[in-house]
Amino acid sequence: MKITANNPEKRSWLHIEKNCDFPIQNIPFGVFLTNEDITTIGTRIGNYAIDLAALHQLGYFEGIPLTDDMFMQDSLNDFISDGQTTWRLVRNRIADIFDDKNNKLKENKKHREKVIFDIDEIEMLLPVDIGDFTDFYSSKNHAMNVVSMFGNALTPNWLHMPLAYHGRSSSIVVSGKKIRRPKGQTFPKGEKSPVFGPSKLVDFELEMGFITTDANKLGKSIDINETDAYIFGMVLLNDWSARDIQKWESEPLGPFLAKSFATTISPWIVTMDALEPFRVESPEQDPKPLEYLQQEGKNSYDIKLVASIKPKKQKRTVVSKTNYKYNYWTMGQQLAHQTVNGCNVRSGDLYGSGTNSGSKEGTYGSMLELTMAGSKPIKLNDGTERKFINDGDTVILKGYCKNKNVRIGFGECKSRLRKAK
Ligand code: MN
Repeated sequence: MKITANNPEKRSWLHIEKNCDFPIQNIPFGVFLTNEDITTIGTRIGNYAIDLAALHQLGYFEGIPLTDDMFMQDSLNDFISDGQTTWRLVRNRIADIFDDKNNKLKENKKHREKVIFDIDEIEMLLPVDIGDFTDFYSSKNHAMNVVSMFGNALTPNWLHMPLAYHGRSSSIVVSGKKIRRPKGQTFPKGEKSPVFGPSKLVDFELEMGFITTDANKLGKSIDINETDAYIFGMVLLNDWSARDIQKWESEPLGPFLAKSFATTISPWIVTMDALEPFRVESPEQDPKPLEYLQQEGKNSYDIKLVASIKPKKQKRTVVSKTNYKYNYWTMGQQLAHQTVNGCNVRSGDLYGSGTNSGSKEGTYGSMLELTMAGSKPIKLNDGTERKFINDGDTVILKGYCKNKNVRIGFGECKSRLRKAK
């Protein structure tokens, strides 16, 4: 089926500012609360939130097989479950409804009032009910930075498969929600035994996440050449990390409480269809991976990523600029690997890319790397210094793709760190 929604020539009758992340070619999906306290599934064009449940009720999706309550839900799980054909039909139809050549909704004031909201009038909610969360470790630059900091080398398995840990779903929150500095057990240098208290080394991790549909039954795996059909879209993801807790707890089973206190994601899921024009080749893999991880063609995406820190009542300072395309392992490889043992994935499951780091200073995706574990503090625009994240700081992640025709963005993934209770 043709993805007509991606046509770069298309213009909308809704006003869209230049350099907006949400032109008519984007059409992401999210869940929001209207100013009348109604939860609905929606999309965004420019600075307008579009109520898809209202559009459906008014008959605008006629001819597309959708259940009556498909968009009257507090998560996108059922819609995602319907599969790629439905995603494409709905996205194409939305692009058509808001096309400046189509007068149907444009000239129906009553309908417009029911369907279109100013983005400031609504409240974004978590877009999916996340059953399972896996966080990968797929940036070679990041892995090298971390291991070399502690005088180690990459573990021998790293170049043969996308490594990951199973994360915690219950504490994944949508952008805008404040995070509480975690307390826990650490073993600071100079102490003779572990101590308990607020983490002193709270960090962010600049990541992207992808969301799957139901893909395989328990016991079956997904062939690497079929993974694309099961990935719905992507979000920005901040994998908040307490480095002092992590250091003490991680041997031998990996991250636990250092990560599970919070993960923030951006509210709009940008579909893989919208990202299609931004496919690029992933870095060459040497050694060649085993057959079940071998892939041909362009399997990564050119997504520019930016991380900023904004102290309370101050302006933000950009601390990192990098790109998703530097990741060594692709989403297809991650999903093939996740399921190769027969583990089933479900609609709404979330997969973090792992911290995205480039190869140069200023392109690293965590404070751990940017400040060399706190030994080289970063100076912010207000004159203060940061080794890690302070109470009151807001961490803001942004991401976008851009070519000469169109810009497809993710908006923001931001949350403020509050002091420990
Ligand atoms: Mn991570």
